[in-house]
Amino acid sequence: MYIFFSRSLEQQLNDRLEILAEAAIPSLRIIKSRGIQRLDDELPWQELFRHNQSLEWFNPKGKLLAKEGKFFANSSLSQALADGLQEGFPILQQQGQVRTFSIAVYTEDRDKTTLRLEGYIRASESTQDLLWKLEQLRSGLIVGGVTVLLLSSISGIGLTWLTLQPMQRNLRRLKHFTGDVAHELRNPLTAIGTTVDLLRNSPEELSPAQVRKLAIIDRANEQIIHLVEDLLFLSRANIDSDRLDRDFNFASIPLEELLQDLVERFEPQAQNKQIQFTPHLRTGIVVKGDSHKLSRLFSNLLDNALKYTTEGGRVALFLEREQRFAVIRIEDTGIGIPPDSLPLIFQRFWRADTAKSEKDGLGLGLAIAQAIVQQHKGEIKVSSRLGAGSSFRVLLPLDAQA
Ligand code: ADP
Repeated sequence: MYIFFSRSLEQQLNDRLEILAEAAIPSLRIIKSRGIQRLDDELPWQELFRHNQSLEWFNPKGKLLAKEGKFFANSSLSQALADGLQEGFPILQQQGQVRTFSIAVYTEDRDKTTLRLEGYIRASESTQDLLWKLEQLRSGLIVGGVTVLLLSSISGIGLTWLTLQPMQRNLRRLKHFTGDVAHELRNPLTAIGTTVDLLRNSPEELSPAQVRKLAIIDRANEQIIHLVEDLLFLSRANIDSDRLDRDFNFASIPLEELLQDLVERFEPQAQNKQIQFTPHLRTGIVVKGDSHKLSRLFSNLLDNALKYTTEGGRVALFLEREQRFAVIRIEDTGIGIPPDSLPLIFQRFWRADTAKSEKDGLGLGLAIAQAIVQQHKGEIKVSSRLGAGSSFRVLLPLDAQA
């Protein structure tokens, strides 16, 4: 738009100068014979004359005879003559802020066969107006462009927000639904568990086959209760972080004690698989957290390490301090995780193909571990090599008051 308008304004200016110069042709003869004073009454070109224009009349040698107006080019006619004016071509020049249009004027001799050079006329106009208009246009375009961009961005954001609203509402409803279902399932499942326990506690009324069946029901029930607890925890972590904060019981936790308890709990599992399980725990490392949730976090990681390490392998648990963080590392020499799967392992219900042979697992353990770490303002990272082993590293901020 700017280029189009500036070209059009330039063209208009050039056209005006050409018309002015051509309208002044008859006046050259008058000036030569009677001087500039006689010009005022006799010629029509004056109607074309604007406040920012001027005219100059020259003799055939390029000497200035007369001039009229305010804005003149600084130079003489010699440059225009050198550029070909003498041969009869009109010359357009820009000199500073003045545009000039020079023409040569010829008259026919009496015999009407030859042309005689009468002199030259130079029409000039200041380009200040033109520059001012272009400047106005440029500012208008910038202001308009920025306004349009702003308005379209705002309306874009608004539209996206409006479009996303129903989806977000549905997602929230779905999460609430999962939470509600998990909550509602908890009571009947606990009732089943209690009833089964009661029955198993009076084995004299049951046949051995019935006791075995009850044990199977009990195990299955325990698994479902576990899953429901996990789902409830995750749906709360997603919907309502305030509520989750209230569920958390924050206190100063000496990590060495907490981890030592877990080591004792997992030792039988390690021995069963002849896994060498070694803890390296530094003392005096205290974090602010919920001991129940932190136990859950590390037991999920230790359970995985032992679960995905084959017999005769090694699992090590480290507790160290790094600046303002407690660093807990769980390293195993297990089956490892394929590199392309590493970004996925913290997603719910995700399990590597290599892990699917392991019956015990639903793919929620790491999602829960991550949610707990986030609630403690920490960080969890994993590095792994397929077939060689994995290392999970958890960073938790130290308790500043401890
Ligand atoms: P699962 O109940 O399947 O163990 P998790 O969320 O705890 O679920 O883990 C998700 C997946 O990540 C597992 O199925 C397994 O493929 C992989 N994984 C987790 N920990 C390890 C590990 N220490 N070694 C190898 N693979 C692991």
